[in-house]
Amino acid sequence: MIRQVLLSGVCFLVASVSMAAAAIDAPATRAAAGKILDADYPRLDALYKDIHKNPELGFQEVRTAAKLAAEMKAIGFEVTEKVGKTGIVAIFKNGPGPMVMVRTELDALPMEEKTGLPYASTAKQMWNGKETFVDHSCGHDIHMAAWVGTARALVAMKDKWHGTLMFIGQPAEETTGGAKAMLADKLFERFGKPDIGFALHTGPNPAGQVSYKPGVNSSNSDSLEIKFLGRGAHGSRPSQSIDPIMMASRFVVDVQSVVSREKDAAEFGVVTIGAIEGGSAGNIIPDNVVLRGTIRSYRPDVRETLTGGVRRTANAVAMMAGAPQPQVTITPGGDAVVNDIPIAERTGALFKAAFGDKAIKNDEPGSASEDYSAFIQAGVPSLFFGIGGVDPVKLADAKAKGIAFPGNHSPQFAPLPEPAIRTGVEAMTIAVMSVVGQ
Ligand SMILES: [Zn+2]
Ligand SMILES: [Zn+2]
Repeated sequence: MIRQVLLSGVCFLVASVSMAAAAIDAPATRAAAGKILDADYPRLDALYKDIHKNPELGFQEVRTAAKLAAEMKAIGFEVTEKVGKTGIVAIFKNGPGPMVMVRTELDALPMEEKTGLPYASTAKQMWNGKETFVDHSCGHDIHMAAWVGTARALVAMKDKWHGTLMFIGQPAEETTGGAKAMLADKLFERFGKPDIGFALHTGPNPAGQVSYKPGVNSSNSDSLEIKFLGRGAHGSRPSQSIDPIMMASRFVVDVQSVVSREKDAAEFGVVTIGAIEGGSAGNIIPDNVVLRGTIRSYRPDVRETLTGGVRRTANAVAMMAGAPQPQVTITPGGDAVVNDIPIAERTGALFKAAFGDKAIKNDEPGSASEDYSAFIQAGVPSLFFGIGGVDPVKLADAKAKGIAFPGNHSPQFAPLPEPAIRTGVEAMTIAVMSVVGQ
């Protein structure tokens, strides 16, 4: 019920958006893009594997940005680099008509890849003052290849449309700072404000699928860091210490009662602690422990309940231990992505016409978060849609055996580039052509 109210509120907000629309033949557009892809695919596959092998962390995507900039220049786009630190903006003007934004992310994650793929990453970069492995385990490399492929398909079809393409490569999506950095660098003031925007994301559903969700599409995300301050001592003399490992352990368990007992059970909300750092040896009680985590929600009141509960639990745990007040930092990240309902319905209908039962309308938003919401809040009505990423045969096999299949952010996440990239190009080409086509 409450979700209904929320969605109708959202509908009210976006109802006044005027949008450009063109009547296109979606199956024919898909076929035309597919024909271009047949010749282009080996290049996209090579680009994908190169980017996958050489992942870079948020705001460090120097090689990645340079690589994409060179690709886009070769296609005929006018490219500006270093927009929002490491972001790129590629513009292609093709007569009068609407301006359409297509966004890809550039960044990877600070983790070790364990897929065993021949093109697996062994790259390392500095992160929070430490060297770490880097892995494209969110599929942003698939998005980049599909982004370049879409640009190439649209330019090859340029006698069939009029308007301006604004293809942006956004840094630092995972830390949710990149979209804001591009906007703060006057993205829309310098290059024009798009009439409409599109982005896609790979997920752990079968490759070849396209999915879309009108209205609320993804969660609010806040990142969390807590430093418990204790007193170090010899491991054999705990009474001399104020043990921050004990505090951290208690917090990790107790904070889940905020989710299970303070939040309305019918509403979505998650608190996850994904990293614990503390101590150096088994016989030393350290003087501090740092926890890092993420808080996810759809509704603003749930967001407040969770962030308030996290702070209160951290303070209570320290008080119980007789420790100083912990340092609690909650950094607001991406807000929920709210897809424009008419654009989502219209584009979704075209996906269904072109992809048949492989185009799926989702009833519920996803739990992931995205800073693409910053572009929507800056006034670009958009559709952020999904493409399937994983091997349908392996996925069905895992389901039959009742085994969890590795999704995004897993060290085993291994998207199937073909047909994921192909599907991304075909769907994105349809989306853009539905605005600029004639
Ligand atoms: Zn991610
Ligand atoms: Zn992602």
